[in-house]
Amino acid sequence: MKKKVQIPVGDPAGRITCNKCGNKKDFVEIAENVLVTTRYTQNSDGSFTPEENDTEVFGAVKFICGQCGEDLSRYHSHFLEMSF
Ligand SMILES: [Zn+2]
Repeated sequence: MKKKVQIPVGDPAGRITCNKCGNKKDFVEIAENVLVTTRYTQNSDGSFTPEENDTEVFGAVKFICGQCGEDLSRYHSHFLEMSF
């Protein structure tokens, strides 16, 4: 099943605005069932240095308004394209 990308309309075009409270600044991404794997190297003094970090998401990823909690998941694909 292909996901539809919904691009928000706004001024300037492409900015996400919460349709419930008008918030356009604070957004929250929630990932369910996340497996985080981090590789460490143990140093000669016994301390550890993280080498690489791998995050796998097995559950759903939600994208919500950071102020009122409105579900904005339909914009999530757009959010991923626009997050740097
Ligand atoms: Zn909101």
